[in-house]
Amino acid sequence: MSDATVIKPDLQFVSEIIKGGGESLKKCYQCATCSVVCNVTPEGNPFPRKEMVLAQWGQKDKLITSPDVWLCHQCSDCTAYCPRGAKPGEVLNAIRKQSIKEVAMIPLFAKIATDPKLIWLLFAIPMALFYIVLTVLGNTNIDVVRAKSSHMAYHNFMPVPAIDVIFILTAAFAATSAFVGIKRLWAGMQANAGTAQGSGSPFGHILPAVTTILAHKKFADCNVSRLRQWGHLLLFYAFAGLAIVTTWAIVYLYGHEFLGIKAFGPFNFGEAPYPMTDPMKMLALASSVAFAIGFTIILLNRLGNAGKAGMGSYFDWIFLLIVIGVGATGMLSWGLRLADVTMGYWVYYFHLVFVWSLFAYAPYSKFAHLFYRTTAMVFAKYTGRDKK
Ligand code: SF4
Ligand code: SF4
Repeated sequence: MSDATVIKPDLQFVSEIIKGGGESLKKCYQCATCSVVCNVTPEGNPFPRKEMVLAQWGQKDKLITSPDVWLCHQCSDCTAYCPRGAKPGEVLNAIRKQSIKEVAMIPLFAKIATDPKLIWLLFAIPMALFYIVLTVLGNTNIDVVRAKSSHMAYHNFMPVPAIDVIFILTAAFAATSAFVGIKRLWAGMQANAGTAQGSGSPFGHILPAVTTILAHKKFADCNVSRLRQWGHLLLFYAFAGLAIVTTWAIVYLYGHEFLGIKAFGPFNFGEAPYPMTDPMKMLALASSVAFAIGFTIILLNRLGNAGKAGMGSYFDWIFLLIVIGVGATGMLSWGLRLADVTMGYWVYYFHLVFVWSLFAYAPYSKFAHLFYRTTAMVFAKYTGRDKK
C-alpha cells in the first residue's frame, strides 16, 4: 500500500487569491529567496515561500487560519527581491482577505467590504442610515437647521444623543464581530498547529505582543518600505488619540448633563463647540496632524515603491479611501463651521458616513489586521513559533 497523500486543490480559492491582488501567484518557481530576505519570519517556520506553494496548490484549509499569513507585515521586501516578479507580499495580502471572509461573523459584511462591485452598497448603508435619522429629526433642510442658533453647530443638525446611540450600537456590533473572528481564527490556528500547541494560558503573551505592536518593532525590520514604519506609527497613534477625544467628549457632555460637573480650569464640561485652549481640542488637533502626516507618508511610500512592491489591491485602497474620507471630511467640516459655511452640514453628514464605515467594517476590511495580526502574534509567542 502506498502512503501517498492525495492533494485536493480548491480551485475557487486559487481564483479568489488571483482576483484579490495575487495575480502573480503562478509565476513562483519556489526558489525561496523571499523566505531568506524576510526579516519578520521566524527561522523555524519561514514564510512566505511555503505559503506560495500552498496557495498554488489551492490548500485553503492550511492557509486560511495560518498564523504566518498574519505575522507578515506587508513590508514587501520579498516582493522587491523575488526574481520571478511573483509578488509574495501581495499574495499574502490576498490570502489575508480570504482569511477575513472565512472567519467573519457576517460573511455578507465581509463581501461588501472587500468586493469592488459592491462599493456602492458599502457607502449606501451608512448614507441611508444617517439620512433616515436626519429625516426623523426633521433636519434635512440645512437652512432651517442653520437658523436654529446664531453660530453654526453640528449638534443642531445631528444631536449628540442620536450620534451616541448609533455609534454605541455600531461599536458593539464591531466588537462582537471582532470577538467572533478572533475566536474562529484562534481555533483554526490551533487545529493547524498539530503538535506545536502552546502550554499554559495564552493570556500572559498578550502584553508582550501588544508592547511589540505599540513600538512597531516588526516594521523596523523591513528594508524596502522603511518609511512605512513611521507612517503606520503616526496613523496608529492618531487613531488612538481620536478614540480618546471621542471618549473625552462623551465625558464632557454627560458629566455636565447628568452629574452637573461645571467647566473648571482649561476643561470645558458641557456641549460643543469647545475653545482651542481646551486640552481635548489640542489632542484632537495633534491627532489630526499626525493623521495627515502619517497618511501622506503611507501614500507616498506606496506610490514611490510601486515598481518594487506593487500598487496594492482594492482591499488596500478602499481602506485608504475610508481613512482619507474620515480625515478630509473631519477637517473640512471643522473649517466650514468656523467659516460659517452652511454646506458644512452636508460635509459633516459625509464625515459621519465615513466614520461609521471605518468602525462598522473594521473586522471585515483591511482594518481587521489590527485584531488578527495581534491574535497571530499572541499565538506565535504562546506556541514558541516566533523564536529566532
Ligand atoms: S515567490 Fe519569488 S522569491 Fe519566493 S519562492 Fe517564489 S519565485 Fe522565489
Ligand atoms: S511582505 Fe515583508 S513581512 Fe511579509 S513575507 Fe514579505 S518580506 Fe516578509
